[in-house]
Amino acid sequence: MKLDEFELIYKNDRIDIKNKAKIVSELTEIIGKQNVSIEPIDILAYTKDSSLIAFNWTIQGKIAGLPDIITWPESVEQISEILIYANKEKIPVIPYAEGSGVVGGAIATRGGIIIDMKKFNKILELNDKNLTVSAQAGINGMNLERFLNAKGYTTGHIPQSIRMSSLGGWIAHRAAGQFSTKYGKIEDIVLGMEVVLPEGKLISFKSIPRASTGPQLDKLFIGGEGTLGIVTKATLKIWPYPEKRSLISYAFPTFEDSLEAIRQILREHIFPAVIRIYDQFETMRHFPDIEKAKDKVMVVFICEGIKKLVDLEEDITREKCIKESGIDCGDLPVEHWLNTRFRVTETSTMPPYKIVFETVEVASLWENAANIYHTVLESMNKVKGLIMITAHASHFYPNGVGIYFSWGGVPPKGNTDLDFYQECWDTTIKAVLDAGGSIGHHHGIGINRSHWMEQEWGDAMNTMREIKKLLDPNNILNPGKTYVRTWKGGEN
Ligand SMILES: Cc1cc2nc3c(=O)[nH]c(=O)nc-3n(C[C@H](O)[C@H](O)[C@H](O)COP(=O)(O)OP(=O)(O)OC[C@H]3O[C@@H](n4cnc5c(N)ncnc54)[C@H](O)[C@@H]3O)c2cc1C
Repeated sequence: MKLDEFELIYKNDRIDIKNKAKIVSELTEIIGKQNVSIEPIDILAYTKDSSLIAFNWTIQGKIAGLPDIITWPESVEQISEILIYANKEKIPVIPYAEGSGVVGGAIATRGGIIIDMKKFNKILELNDKNLTVSAQAGINGMNLERFLNAKGYTTGHIPQSIRMSSLGGWIAHRAAGQFSTKYGKIEDIVLGMEVVLPEGKLISFKSIPRASTGPQLDKLFIGGEGTLGIVTKATLKIWPYPEKRSLISYAFPTFEDSLEAIRQILREHIFPAVIRIYDQFETMRHFPDIEKAKDKVMVVFICEGIKKLVDLEEDITREKCIKESGIDCGDLPVEHWLNTRFRVTETSTMPPYKIVFETVEVASLWENAANIYHTVLESMNKVKGLIMITAHASHFYPNGVGIYFSWGGVPPKGNTDLDFYQECWDTTIKAVLDAGGSIGHHHGIGINRSHWMEQEWGDAMNTMREIKKLLDPNNILNPGKTYVRTWKGGEN
């Protein structure tokens, strides 16, 4: 089967590339023959990211976006030269790391050149005195963490996708790991970095614990989603590997009780590394054999660090849980979480049954959290074709929480997968906004959230568009994402 025989989902804004042979030849000059491909098998490998609906499309023989040329640069200079050339020819360039993003950020909706970052995979420096590690941005997350663990350290940044995501991808999507309540999210962990701007200029930001040197421009690239620059290396905070871990779990009568216990724990400045609430539906699915958790809301905690501190954190965590009517369920539920935390079988088992499945994470201050949970469930249950809607929460702050909804359903007759997917996304996000929440917590904007950005950011979104224009006047770097105003793409 030829590539142009596949049904292409994002085809409306494709930029037709004329004289492809000349472009390939120029790119070959820049990065060498071994680092450029237009082989169909290579192109096919870069037609999607890990957006869950893409699994359904794959089974149906459809592809999401169709890049024209794949490149694997090996140096910052090569990235810079590719970008200078792409500006001259006005060809889109899409940074691509491990493709684990779930909002379409790395999909080449307009075609163009993929810059795969996998050859940027080296660890550059480990510094015990400063407690930092520097690495190239394409390094695989698990390779970095294994290296650190072997030397007695951790970054504390352990996303569920750690085996299939990169340092640059984490920065691009403002990622959050499972142990984030103690160690922070990626923006708390990155100390410095180097970025190639859309027109090919290299800029770098010193590694510093903190500065008062004007607006901190580096923050613009944490969450830039490959639209404002390509991150080529970064320096991260690290920590000595924890001496002790305590596994704690409590089952609560309601979602509200579990939120309240956690709010009270964090208010005391106590930070368990892992906190995860399973709502009643998820508790039923994950812990059917734990009698004490029947019809309840399970919460698992891991406190870790030096023994003295962990013991104190454990005492306070238990005290607050008991006060909110929590029932101690022992360490088995936490062992279950530890054993299954990288398993995502649901996502691949549903598409063969034609079920469109998705997860949407959002954020809220404490005062709106319970309302958001109930409003989303109520709104989603009205969507025709919906089979399930559940939630968990796994990222907490003294001021609020990230809530994560999982839904699945079968498109009603006459609707495509994409119609149903978009309706469910829009229903979830509208309910979140109505209930006072924020539209995204750690998966980014990509294609899926861009048309909600004006509602989320108000006038600030126009300022953001001006910044994009200033840095990328030809709009070549990852176009069709973040700044577009409709699901269908178009402008920007
Ligand atoms: C099963 C599963 C579990 C997940 N769990 C988590 C989780 O726990 N926490 C979490 O935060 N996310 C999670 N994700 C989402 C995903 O792993 C993250 O968004 C991750 O940060 C993407 O990294 P990547 O290297 O795969 O990037 P890609 O998917 O390749 O790219 C993502 C975006 O970043 C841009 N990009 C990539 N590299 C660079 C670079 N060097 N410079 C500039 N832009 C770049 C791309 O253009 C694209 O817009 C999960 C995804 C899956 C499939």
